[in-house]
Amino acid sequence: MSRFWSPVVQTLTPYVPGEQPQLQRLVKLNTNESPYGPSPKALAAIATENTADLRLYPDPEGSRLKAAVAKLHGLDPKQVFLGNGSDEVLAHVFQGLLKQKLPLLFPDISYSFYPVYCKLFGIQYETVPLGPHFEIELDAYAKLNGGIIFPNPNAPTGRAIPRAEIELLLKKNSGSVVVIDEAYVDYGTESCIPLLRGEHCPENLLVTHTLSKSRALAGLRVGFAVGHPALIEGLERVKNSFNSYPLGRLAQAGAIAAIEDQAYLESMSAKVIRTRGVLVDALDQLGFETLPSTANFVFTRHPKHAGATLYEQLRERGIIVRHFKSPRIDAFLRITIGTDEQNQELIAALKELV
Ligand SMILES: *Cc1c(COP(=O)(O)O)cnc(C)c1O
Repeated sequence: MSRFWSPVVQTLTPYVPGEQPQLQRLVKLNTNESPYGPSPKALAAIATENTADLRLYPDPEGSRLKAAVAKLHGLDPKQVFLGNGSDEVLAHVFQGLLKQKLPLLFPDISYSFYPVYCKLFGIQYETVPLGPHFEIELDAYAKLNGGIIFPNPNAPTGRAIPRAEIELLLKKNSGSVVVIDEAYVDYGTESCIPLLRGEHCPENLLVTHTLSKSRALAGLRVGFAVGHPALIEGLERVKNSFNSYPLGRLAQAGAIAAIEDQAYLESMSAKVIRTRGVLVDALDQLGFETLPSTANFVFTRHPKHAGATLYEQLRERGIIVRHFKSPRIDAFLRITIGTDEQNQELIAALKELV
């Protein structure tokens, strides 16, 4: 604490990311990174980027990357907004679109960065409880609001809802923006991006993606939002009032190649989905209750073992998972899907513990 902190900084409770331990031989299953490397084409694009050009500012618009995203998703480049990780994209979304007179709505159990942005930007919000099986119940969002945001699939539960339900929500909730955070969409969830194609693009839908999870580029920091061109224009106004160059030359080069290598994404995602199936079956046999997941992690609890204890015991064995000390989900562990070898180590450890 310093008396020089501004009043708002004194009230903040910053987001705490999962730890990034420096020890090498750990089974790190706590921050939903990909266990596989990025596309070799992305690595090659970064390596062959002309480093002499690093003295020059990058393209502030990221035009080639926007074109690549637009082409992949069947959109117009004017429908694409880029940021330094989707966390930065979300920050601009909160400030530029979700800060309204009426409260923002999001689930009580969700990405814990959302309330942090609300605090930072002075946004009123209300949380909407998940249903008894930790599912998002969209009927509960039928009230006056200044915006709605949730991840699909939700984090940390891994549960998804079908696109048709979101389509219905968009129609009923035509008075405010609906933001779908699709950080984990590539592991078996229906994306809402197809709704944005062509002339029937809804005015109030924004979808955010990251290259940190399924494209295995968490260290490069690239994310994007897609939506109606008028929403994107609003985000560009915020971005150009904050930092005109959020993506460096290396990030843009790597991201373009990664976006263009859809075949690699699909084969890595298929591997993760297969390993997830093996883990879920093993957890079932050990008596765990696991929420149905279409993400690259599972959310699971054991009726006889406390989440905090299992977390510590796994840690002693060099396996790091995520545990949240929040009231409703205190019994759960969130476990990232690793390689098959990591998965076997995890299962063997759990067999000893329960
Ligand atoms: C990981 C994650 C993000 C942010 O990813 P970036 O690395 O900042 O692109 C956004 N939303 C959810 C729900 C996430 O889990």
